[in-house]
Amino acid sequence: MGFKKKARKAREARGEKTERKSRRKELSDGEKKCAIKDCENWADKSHGGRSIAFDNLADVWDEDDIVGEARRLSICKPCYRHYKKEKKDDESQTW
Ligand SMILES: [Zn+2]
Repeated sequence: MGFKKKARKAREARGEKTERKSRRKELSDGEKKCAIKDCENWADKSHGGRSIAFDNLADVWDEDDIVGEARRLSICKPCYRHYKKEKKDDESQTW
C-alpha cells in the first residue's frame, strides 16, 4: 500500500531525472563522454551521439548540468532523444 508513491517521492527528492537506468550496454569504449553531467554514456558517433550547440543544450538542460564549455558539445543518443523531444514540445507551444 502506497509504497509506489513512496518510491516516487524518493526519486523526486533526488532530482527526479532518474529515468530507468538500462543495464549498461558495453559497446567498445568511446572517446567522448556525454556532455550531460549525470550521464555516463558515450557520445561518439559510433555510439549514436550527436553534437549540439551549447545554446541549444542550455534550452533543455540547466547550464549546471552541462559539462564542457565548447560551442558544440557531444551528447549521447538517449540524451539526444530527450533533447529532440523537449525541443519539439517547445515548438508546439507557441506563445
Ligand atoms: Zn547522455
